[in-house]
Amino acid sequence: MTHLLHRSIHATLPVAVSGAGIEITDQTGKRYIDASGGAAVSCLGHGHPDVLAALHEQLDRMAYAHTGFFTTEVAERLADMLVEAAPEGLDHVYLVSGGSEAVEAALKMARQYFVETGQPQRRHVIARRQSYHGNTLGALAAGGNEWRRTQFSPLLIETHHIAPCYAYREQKDGESLEDYGLRAAQELEDKILELGAEEVMAFVAEPVVGATAGAIPPAPGYFRRIREICDKYGVLLILDEVMCGMGRTGSLYACEQDDIVPDLLSIAKGLGGGYQPIGATLLSRRIFEAFANGTGFFQHGHTYMGHPMAAAAGVAVQTVIRRDHLLDNVRAMGNFLSAQLHEQLGQNPHVGDIRGRGLFMGVELVRDRETKEPFDPALKLHARIKREAMERGLMVYPMGGTINGRSGDHILLAPPFIVTEKDVETIVNRLGQAIGAALSTISS
Ligand code: PLP
Repeated sequence: MTHLLHRSIHATLPVAVSGAGIEITDQTGKRYIDASGGAAVSCLGHGHPDVLAALHEQLDRMAYAHTGFFTTEVAERLADMLVEAAPEGLDHVYLVSGGSEAVEAALKMARQYFVETGQPQRRHVIARRQSYHGNTLGALAAGGNEWRRTQFSPLLIETHHIAPCYAYREQKDGESLEDYGLRAAQELEDKILELGAEEVMAFVAEPVVGATAGAIPPAPGYFRRIREICDKYGVLLILDEVMCGMGRTGSLYACEQDDIVPDLLSIAKGLGGGYQPIGATLLSRRIFEAFANGTGFFQHGHTYMGHPMAAAAGVAVQTVIRRDHLLDNVRAMGNFLSAQLHEQLGQNPHVGDIRGRGLFMGVELVRDRETKEPFDPALKLHARIKREAMERGLMVYPMGGTINGRSGDHILLAPPFIVTEKDVETIVNRLGQAIGAALSTISS
Protein backbone atom coordinates (compact mmCIF):
# COMPACT_ATOMS: atom_id res chain seq x y z
CA MET A 1 0.00 0.00 0.00
CA THR A 2 1.32 3.42 -0.95
CA HIS A 3 0.80 6.62 0.95
CA LEU A 4 1.60 8.85 -2.03
CA LEU A 5 -1.69 10.37 -3.18
CA HIS A 6 -0.43 10.50 -6.77
CA ARG A 7 0.13 6.72 -6.78
CA SER A 8 -3.09 5.98 -4.89
CA ILE A 9 -5.05 7.81 -7.57
CA HIS A 10 -3.00 6.81 -10.64
CA ALA A 11 -2.31 3.18 -9.80
CA THR A 12 -1.04 2.11 -13.24
CA LEU A 13 1.58 4.81 -13.83
CA PRO A 14 5.11 3.51 -14.45
CA VAL A 15 7.82 4.56 -12.01
CA ALA A 16 10.47 6.84 -13.55
CA VAL A 17 13.90 5.78 -12.34
CA SER A 18 16.39 7.62 -14.55
CA GLY A 19 16.67 10.10 -17.37
CA ALA A 20 19.34 10.76 -19.98
CA GLY A 21 19.17 13.02 -23.04
CA ILE A 22 15.68 12.98 -24.49
CA GLU A 23 14.67 9.75 -22.70
CA ILE A 24 13.24 8.64 -19.35
CA THR A 25 13.59 5.01 -18.19
CA ASP A 26 11.05 3.27 -15.95
CA GLN A 27 11.40 0.53 -13.32
CA THR A 28 11.19 -2.24 -15.93
CA GLY A 29 13.97 -0.73 -18.05
CA LYS A 30 11.55 0.54 -20.70
CA ARG A 31 12.61 3.84 -22.31
CA TYR A 32 10.29 6.67 -23.31
CA ILE A 33 11.15 9.58 -25.61
CA ASP A 34 10.14 12.72 -23.75
CA ALA A 35 8.43 14.42 -26.69
CA SER A 36 6.46 16.75 -24.46
CA GLY A 37 9.30 17.75 -22.12
CA GLY A 38 6.92 16.54 -19.37
CA ALA A 39 4.65 19.55 -19.66
CA ALA A 40 6.98 21.71 -21.81
CA VAL A 41 9.54 21.75 -19.01
CA SER A 42 12.61 19.67 -19.93
CA CYS A 43 14.10 21.98 -22.54
CA LEU A 44 17.62 20.49 -22.25
CA GLY A 45 16.44 16.93 -21.81
CA HIS A 46 17.55 14.90 -18.80
CA GLY A 47 20.86 14.62 -16.97
CA HIS A 48 22.63 17.47 -18.73
CA PRO A 49 26.19 17.33 -17.33
CA ASP A 50 26.71 21.12 -17.22
CA VAL A 51 23.52 21.69 -15.25
CA LEU A 52 24.34 18.85 -12.85
CA ALA A 53 27.83 20.30 -12.29
CA ALA A 54 26.41 23.77 -11.57
CA LEU A 55 23.94 22.30 -9.10
CA HIS A 56 26.62 20.31 -7.28
CA GLU A 57 28.78 23.41 -7.05
CA GLN A 58 25.94 25.51 -5.63
CA LEU A 59 24.99 22.75 -3.19
CA ASP A 60 28.57 22.54 -1.92
CA ARG A 61 28.62 26.30 -1.41
CA MET A 62 25.17 26.86 0.11
CA ALA A 63 21.72 25.38 -0.48
CA TYR A 64 19.51 28.06 1.03
CA ALA A 65 19.50 31.58 2.43
CA HIS A 66 16.22 33.32 3.29
CA THR A 67 15.46 36.44 1.24
CA GLY A 68 14.41 38.27 4.40
CA PHE A 69 18.09 38.30 5.43
CA PHE A 70 20.12 38.04 2.23
CA THR A 71 20.23 38.33 -1.51
CA THR A 72 22.53 35.92 -3.36
CA GLU A 73 24.92 36.32 -6.27
CA VAL A 74 23.33 33.47 -8.17
CA ALA A 75 19.80 34.96 -7.96
CA GLU A 76 21.12 38.36 -9.05
CA ARG A 77 22.98 36.76 -11.93
CA LEU A 78 19.87 35.00 -13.15
CA ALA A 79 17.84 38.22 -12.98
CA ASP A 80 20.56 40.01 -15.00
CA MET A 81 20.53 37.28 -17.66
CA LEU A 82 16.75 37.43 -17.98
CA VAL A 83 16.65 41.22 -18.27
CA GLU A 84 19.58 41.43 -20.73
CA ALA A 85 17.57 39.29 -23.16
CA ALA A 86 14.12 40.68 -22.36
CA PRO A 87 12.13 43.14 -24.47
CA GLU A 88 13.12 46.74 -23.67
CA GLY A 89 11.45 48.06 -20.54
CA LEU A 90 11.10 44.84 -18.56
CA ASP A 91 13.94 45.42 -16.17
CA HIS A 92 13.13 43.88 -12.81
CA VAL A 93 12.68 40.22 -11.91
CA TYR A 94 10.82 38.56 -9.04
CA LEU A 95 11.91 34.94 -8.56
CA VAL A 96 9.41 32.33 -7.38
CA SER A 97 9.05 28.54 -7.43
CA GLY A 98 6.82 27.84 -10.43
CA GLY A 99 4.29 29.02 -12.96
CA SER A 100 1.22 29.46 -10.77
CA GLU A 101 3.24 31.56 -8.33
CA ALA A 102 4.58 33.65 -11.22
CA VAL A 103 1.05 34.41 -12.47
CA GLU A 104 -0.24 34.99 -8.94
CA ALA A 105 2.59 37.49 -8.35
CA ALA A 106 1.81 39.29 -11.62
CA LEU A 107 -1.86 39.68 -10.65
CA LYS A 108 -0.94 41.06 -7.23
CA MET A 109 1.69 43.39 -8.74
CA ALA A 110 -0.98 44.78 -11.06
CA ARG A 111 -3.31 45.38 -8.16
CA GLN A 112 -0.63 46.97 -5.96
CA TYR A 113 0.46 49.19 -8.88
CA PHE A 114 -3.03 50.70 -9.09
CA VAL A 115 -3.31 51.10 -5.32
CA GLU A 116 0.08 52.85 -5.22
CA THR A 117 -0.85 55.15 -8.10
CA GLY A 118 -4.18 56.22 -6.63
CA GLN A 119 -6.53 54.10 -8.74
CA PRO A 120 -7.80 51.56 -6.20
CA GLN A 121 -11.07 51.17 -8.10
CA ARG A 122 -9.19 49.17 -10.77
CA ARG A 123 -9.91 45.56 -9.88
CA HIS A 124 -11.35 43.66 -12.85
CA VAL A 125 -9.24 40.99 -14.50
CA ILE A 126 -10.00 40.02 -18.09
CA ALA A 127 -8.63 36.78 -19.53
CA ARG A 128 -9.55 34.37 -22.32
CA ARG A 129 -11.57 31.22 -22.57
CA GLN A 130 -9.52 28.10 -23.30
CA SER A 131 -6.55 29.29 -21.29
CA TYR A 132 -4.68 27.92 -18.31
CA HIS A 133 -2.76 30.13 -15.91
CA GLY A 134 -2.15 27.81 -12.97
CA ASN A 135 -3.90 26.15 -10.07
CA THR A 136 -3.57 28.58 -7.13
CA LEU A 137 -6.81 30.44 -6.54
CA GLY A 138 -5.85 33.68 -8.30
CA ALA A 139 -4.26 31.95 -11.29
CA LEU A 140 -7.16 29.48 -11.47
CA ALA A 141 -9.61 32.37 -11.52
CA ALA A 142 -7.79 33.87 -14.50
CA GLY A 143 -7.80 30.57 -16.40
CA GLY A 144 -10.64 30.02 -18.80
CA ASN A 145 -10.88 26.27 -18.54
CA GLU A 146 -14.28 25.50 -17.04
CA TRP A 147 -13.69 21.93 -15.86
CA ARG A 148 -10.77 23.04 -13.72
CA ARG A 149 -12.72 25.92 -12.19
CA THR A 150 -16.24 24.60 -11.59
CA GLN A 151 -15.99 23.04 -8.14
CA PHE A 152 -13.83 25.88 -6.82
CA SER A 153 -15.87 28.70 -8.33
CA PRO A 154 -17.21 30.07 -5.00
CA LEU A 155 -13.59 30.66 -3.92
CA LEU A 156 -12.41 32.42 -7.08
CA ILE A 157 -12.09 36.16 -7.66
CA GLU A 158 -14.45 37.33 -10.36
CA THR A 159 -12.73 37.23 -13.75
CA HIS A 160 -14.17 38.07 -17.14
CA HIS A 161 -13.38 35.93 -20.15
CA ILE A 162 -13.30 36.83 -23.82
CA ALA A 163 -12.76 34.55 -26.84
CA PRO A 164 -9.28 33.18 -27.53
CA CYS A 165 -7.57 33.95 -30.84
CA TYR A 166 -8.27 30.55 -32.40
CA ALA A 167 -8.29 30.84 -36.18
CA TYR A 168 -8.93 27.14 -36.91
CA ARG A 169 -12.37 27.42 -35.32
CA GLU A 170 -13.23 31.11 -35.31
CA GLN A 171 -11.95 32.59 -38.59
CA LYS A 172 -14.87 33.15 -40.99
CA ASP A 173 -14.97 32.13 -44.66
CA GLY A 174 -13.43 34.88 -46.77
CA GLU A 175 -11.94 36.67 -43.75
CA SER A 176 -8.16 37.22 -43.80
CA LEU A 177 -6.13 36.02 -40.83
CA GLU A 178 -5.22 39.65 -40.04
CA ASP A 179 -8.88 40.73 -40.09
CA TYR A 180 -9.81 37.81 -37.91
CA GLY A 181 -7.06 38.80 -35.43
CA LEU A 182 -8.44 42.35 -35.25
CA ARG A 183 -11.96 41.05 -34.75
CA ALA A 184 -10.80 38.75 -31.93
CA ALA A 185 -8.90 41.63 -30.27
CA GLN A 186 -11.97 43.87 -30.50
CA GLU A 187 -13.61 41.65 -27.88
CA LEU A 188 -11.15 43.06 -25.36
CA GLU A 189 -12.15 46.65 -26.05
CA ASP A 190 -15.84 45.71 -25.91
CA LYS A 191 -15.36 43.98 -22.56
CA ILE A 192 -13.36 46.90 -21.11
CA LEU A 193 -16.13 49.32 -22.10
CA GLU A 194 -18.82 47.01 -20.73
CA LEU A 195 -17.07 46.80 -17.34
CA GLY A 196 -16.11 50.47 -17.25
CA ALA A 197 -12.55 51.24 -18.31
CA GLU A 198 -11.60 52.96 -15.06
CA GLU A 199 -12.34 49.77 -13.12
CA VAL A 200 -10.34 47.33 -15.26
CA MET A 201 -6.96 46.28 -13.86
CA ALA A 202 -5.36 43.83 -16.28
CA PHE A 203 -5.71 41.58 -19.30
CA VAL A 204 -3.95 38.20 -19.02
CA ALA A 205 -3.09 35.96 -21.99
CA GLU A 206 -0.65 33.31 -23.20
CA PRO A 207 1.06 34.52 -26.41
CA VAL A 208 0.91 30.96 -27.77
CA VAL A 209 -1.83 29.00 -25.99
CA GLY A 210 -0.41 25.81 -24.55
CA ALA A 211 -1.92 23.04 -22.50
CA THR A 212 -5.61 23.84 -22.93
CA ALA A 213 -5.63 24.00 -26.68
CA GLY A 214 -2.52 22.50 -28.25
CA ALA A 215 -0.11 25.29 -29.24
CA ILE A 216 -2.30 27.93 -30.84
CA PRO A 217 -0.26 30.88 -32.14
CA PRO A 218 -2.06 34.24 -32.40
CA ALA A 219 -3.11 35.74 -35.73
CA PRO A 220 -0.61 38.31 -37.06
CA GLY A 221 -1.29 41.72 -35.50
CA TYR A 222 -3.59 40.37 -32.77
CA PHE A 223 -1.27 41.20 -29.89
CA ARG A 224 -0.23 44.56 -31.34
CA ARG A 225 -3.92 45.53 -31.30
CA ILE A 226 -4.30 44.11 -27.77
CA ARG A 227 -1.37 46.28 -26.65
CA GLU A 228 -2.97 49.37 -28.22
CA ILE A 229 -6.28 48.69 -26.49
CA CYS A 230 -4.59 48.19 -23.11
CA ASP A 231 -2.68 51.47 -23.56
CA LYS A 232 -5.79 53.35 -24.63
CA TYR A 233 -7.62 52.44 -21.42
CA GLY A 234 -4.68 52.28 -19.00
CA VAL A 235 -5.10 48.53 -18.51
CA LEU A 236 -1.98 46.48 -17.66
CA LEU A 237 -1.03 43.68 -20.06
CA ILE A 238 0.14 40.48 -18.34
CA LEU A 239 1.63 37.86 -20.64
CA ASP A 240 1.80 34.32 -19.32
CA GLU A 241 4.81 32.68 -20.97
CA VAL A 242 5.06 29.92 -18.39
CA MET A 243 4.71 27.30 -21.10
CA CYS A 244 5.56 29.07 -24.36
CA GLY A 245 8.46 31.19 -23.07
CA MET A 246 12.19 30.60 -22.52
CA GLY A 247 12.95 29.63 -26.09
CA ARG A 248 10.20 27.08 -26.66
CA THR A 249 8.80 28.93 -29.71
CA GLY A 250 12.20 29.86 -31.16
CA SER A 251 12.79 33.20 -29.42
CA LEU A 252 13.70 33.45 -25.75
CA TYR A 253 10.48 35.36 -25.02
CA ALA A 254 7.51 34.34 -27.16
CA CYS A 255 6.18 37.91 -27.33
CA GLU A 256 9.27 39.04 -29.27
CA GLN A 257 7.69 37.44 -32.34
CA ASP A 258 4.53 39.48 -31.86
CA ASP A 259 6.53 42.66 -31.50
CA ILE A 260 5.04 43.81 -28.22
CA VAL A 261 6.23 44.45 -24.68
CA PRO A 262 3.90 43.53 -21.82
CA ASP A 263 3.80 45.33 -18.47
CA LEU A 264 4.25 42.06 -16.60
CA LEU A 265 5.53 38.74 -17.90
CA SER A 266 5.43 35.35 -16.16
CA ILE A 267 7.84 32.52 -16.93
CA ALA A 268 8.66 29.12 -15.38
CA LYS A 269 9.02 25.56 -16.78
CA GLY A 270 11.88 25.91 -19.31
CA LEU A 271 13.52 28.57 -17.11
CA GLY A 272 15.01 25.81 -14.97
CA GLY A 273 14.38 22.99 -17.43
CA GLY A 274 12.97 20.80 -14.64
CA TYR A 275 16.32 20.62 -12.83
CA GLN A 276 14.81 22.71 -10.03
CA PRO A 277 11.34 24.23 -9.47
CA ILE A 278 11.58 27.88 -10.51
CA GLY A 279 9.46 30.64 -11.99
CA ALA A 280 9.75 34.40 -12.36
CA THR A 281 7.73 37.51 -12.96
CA LEU A 282 9.34 40.31 -14.98
CA LEU A 283 7.99 43.79 -14.37
CA SER A 284 8.29 47.07 -16.16
CA ARG A 285 10.11 50.10 -14.83
CA ARG A 286 6.91 52.04 -14.18
CA ILE A 287 5.52 49.28 -11.97
CA PHE A 288 8.82 49.03 -10.11
CA GLU A 289 8.86 52.81 -9.65
CA ALA A 290 5.31 52.81 -8.32
CA PHE A 291 6.40 50.34 -5.62
CA ALA A 292 9.67 52.18 -4.96
CA ASN A 293 7.95 55.55 -4.62
CA GLY A 294 5.01 54.12 -2.68
CA THR A 295 5.09 51.35 -0.06
CA GLY A 296 8.74 50.69 -0.88
CA PHE A 297 8.28 46.98 -1.47
CA PHE A 298 6.02 44.44 -3.19
CA GLN A 299 3.66 43.18 -0.52
CA HIS A 300 4.01 39.48 -1.22
CA GLY A 301 6.54 36.68 -0.68
CA HIS A 302 7.22 32.96 -0.42
CA THR A 303 9.77 31.18 1.76
CA TYR A 304 11.55 29.66 -1.24
CA MET A 305 11.58 32.65 -3.58
CA GLY A 306 15.02 33.27 -5.06
CA HIS A 307 16.16 29.86 -3.80
CA PRO A 308 19.89 29.55 -4.62
CA MET A 309 19.60 25.99 -5.96
CA ALA A 310 16.71 26.98 -8.22
CA ALA A 311 18.55 30.10 -9.37
CA ALA A 312 21.67 28.00 -10.08
CA ALA A 313 19.58 25.69 -12.27
CA GLY A 314 18.16 28.71 -14.09
CA VAL A 315 21.60 30.22 -14.71
CA ALA A 316 23.01 26.89 -15.90
CA VAL A 317 20.11 26.10 -18.24
CA GLN A 318 20.06 29.59 -19.73
CA THR A 319 23.86 29.54 -20.14
CA VAL A 320 23.77 26.26 -22.07
CA ILE A 321 20.96 27.54 -24.31
CA ARG A 322 23.03 30.61 -25.23
CA ARG A 323 26.41 28.86 -25.46
CA ASP A 324 25.15 26.03 -27.66
CA HIS A 325 22.95 28.32 -29.80
CA LEU A 326 20.03 26.04 -29.06
CA LEU A 327 17.41 28.50 -30.25
CA ASP A 328 18.77 27.97 -33.77
CA ASN A 329 18.02 24.28 -33.29
CA VAL A 330 14.55 25.06 -31.91
CA ARG A 331 13.74 27.01 -35.08
CA ALA A 332 15.27 24.44 -37.45
CA MET A 333 13.83 21.37 -35.70
CA GLY A 334 10.52 23.21 -35.22
CA ASN A 335 10.23 23.62 -38.99
CA PHE A 336 11.24 20.01 -39.48
CA LEU A 337 8.72 18.80 -36.87
CA SER A 338 5.96 20.80 -38.52
CA ALA A 339 6.88 19.40 -41.95
CA GLN A 340 7.02 15.84 -40.59
CA LEU A 341 3.63 16.20 -38.88
CA HIS A 342 2.07 17.44 -42.11
CA GLU A 343 3.78 14.73 -44.15
CA GLN A 344 3.05 11.79 -41.85
CA LEU A 345 -0.29 12.83 -40.32
CA GLY A 346 -1.68 15.40 -42.73
CA GLN A 347 -3.70 12.86 -44.70
CA ASN A 348 -5.35 11.30 -41.66
CA PRO A 349 -9.07 12.14 -41.98
CA HIS A 350 -9.27 12.77 -38.21
CA VAL A 351 -6.38 15.23 -38.03
CA GLY A 352 -8.18 18.57 -38.22
CA ASP A 353 -5.33 20.98 -37.58
CA ILE A 354 -1.55 20.97 -37.14
CA ARG A 355 -0.14 24.22 -35.71
CA GLY A 356 2.38 25.82 -33.42
CA ARG A 357 5.66 27.69 -33.32
CA GLY A 358 9.17 26.36 -32.87
CA LEU A 359 9.29 23.15 -30.85
CA PHE A 360 5.79 23.80 -29.54
CA MET A 361 3.36 22.01 -31.85
CA GLY A 362 -0.23 20.88 -31.47
CA VAL A 363 -2.42 18.40 -33.32
CA GLU A 364 -6.19 18.78 -33.07
CA LEU A 365 -8.26 15.67 -33.75
CA VAL A 366 -11.82 15.77 -35.02
CA ARG A 367 -14.50 13.27 -35.97
CA ASP A 368 -15.24 15.07 -39.22
CA ARG A 369 -12.60 17.10 -40.98
CA GLU A 370 -15.11 18.97 -43.15
CA THR A 371 -17.40 20.15 -40.36
CA LYS A 372 -14.63 20.15 -37.68
CA GLU A 373 -17.03 18.26 -35.42
CA PRO A 374 -15.09 16.95 -32.40
CA PHE A 375 -15.27 13.40 -31.09
CA ASP A 376 -17.62 12.73 -28.18
CA PRO A 377 -15.60 13.89 -25.14
CA ALA A 378 -16.76 10.79 -23.26
CA LEU A 379 -14.56 8.72 -25.60
CA LYS A 380 -11.47 10.49 -24.21
CA LEU A 381 -9.57 10.10 -27.45
CA HIS A 382 -6.68 12.21 -26.12
CA ALA A 383 -6.20 9.83 -23.17
CA ARG A 384 -6.31 6.81 -25.49
CA ILE A 385 -3.61 8.38 -27.67
CA LYS A 386 -1.47 9.08 -24.62
CA ARG A 387 -1.85 5.45 -23.50
CA GLU A 388 -0.98 4.07 -26.94
CA ALA A 389 1.99 6.45 -27.16
CA MET A 390 3.32 5.32 -23.78
CA GLU A 391 2.98 1.71 -24.97
CA ARG A 392 5.26 2.69 -27.86
CA GLY A 393 7.77 4.51 -25.65
CA LEU A 394 6.61 8.04 -26.38
CA MET A 395 5.51 10.83 -24.03
CA VAL A 396 3.02 13.33 -25.50
CA TYR A 397 0.81 15.81 -23.63
CA PRO A 398 -2.92 15.16 -24.12
CA MET A 399 -5.85 17.50 -23.58
CA GLY A 400 -9.55 16.70 -23.66
CA GLY A 401 -11.89 17.75 -26.41
CA THR A 402 -14.76 20.23 -26.52
CA ILE A 403 -13.30 22.49 -23.85
CA ASN A 404 -16.20 24.85 -23.27
CA GLY A 405 -17.84 23.09 -26.23
CA ARG A 406 -15.39 24.65 -28.65
CA SER A 407 -12.62 22.29 -29.73
CA GLY A 408 -11.46 18.77 -30.51
CA ASP A 409 -9.04 16.52 -28.61
CA HIS A 410 -5.45 17.78 -28.67
CA ILE A 411 -1.96 16.40 -28.51
CA LEU A 412 0.83 18.80 -27.57
CA LEU A 413 4.45 18.18 -28.55
CA ALA A 414 7.26 20.07 -26.80
CA PRO A 415 10.44 18.02 -27.15
CA PRO A 416 13.81 19.09 -25.71
CA PHE A 417 15.74 21.74 -27.67
CA ILE A 418 18.50 19.18 -28.36
CA VAL A 419 16.41 16.92 -30.64
CA THR A 420 17.84 15.83 -33.99
CA GLU A 421 16.06 15.13 -37.29
CA LYS A 422 16.23 11.42 -36.52
CA ASP A 423 14.59 11.97 -33.11
CA VAL A 424 11.85 14.05 -34.72
CA GLU A 425 11.17 11.35 -37.33
CA THR A 426 10.88 8.72 -34.59
CA ILE A 427 8.59 10.94 -32.50
CA VAL A 428 6.20 11.62 -35.38
CA ASN A 429 6.27 7.99 -36.49
CA ARG A 430 5.38 6.70 -33.02
CA LEU A 431 2.71 9.41 -32.65
CA GLY A 432 1.17 8.38 -35.98
CA GLN A 433 1.03 4.76 -34.79
CA ALA A 434 -0.48 5.79 -31.46
CA ILE A 435 -3.16 7.92 -33.12
CA GLY A 436 -4.03 5.07 -35.50
CA ALA A 437 -4.24 2.54 -32.66
CA ALA A 438 -6.35 4.87 -30.49
CA LEU A 439 -8.75 5.60 -33.36
CA SER A 440 -9.15 1.87 -34.00
CA THR A 441 -10.25 1.33 -30.38
CA ILE A 442 -13.03 3.87 -30.95
CA SER A 443 -14.39 2.60 -34.24
CA SER A 444 -14.22 -1.11 -33.28
N1 PLP B 1 0.56 29.19 -16.95
C1 PLP B 1 0.63 28.37 -18.00
C2 PLP B 1 0.46 28.94 -19.38
C3 PLP B 1 0.85 27.01 -17.83
O1 PLP B 1 0.89 26.20 -18.90
C4 PLP B 1 1.03 26.52 -16.51
C5 PLP B 1 1.26 25.08 -16.29
O2 PLP B 1 1.04 24.25 -17.14
C6 PLP B 1 0.96 27.41 -15.44
C7 PLP B 1 0.73 28.75 -15.69
C8 PLP B 1 1.14 26.93 -14.03
O3 PLP B 1 2.46 26.57 -13.82
P1 PLP B 1 2.85 25.57 -12.63
O4 PLP B 1 2.21 24.26 -12.94
O5 PLP B 1 4.34 25.55 -12.65
O6 PLP B 1 2.32 26.16 -11.37
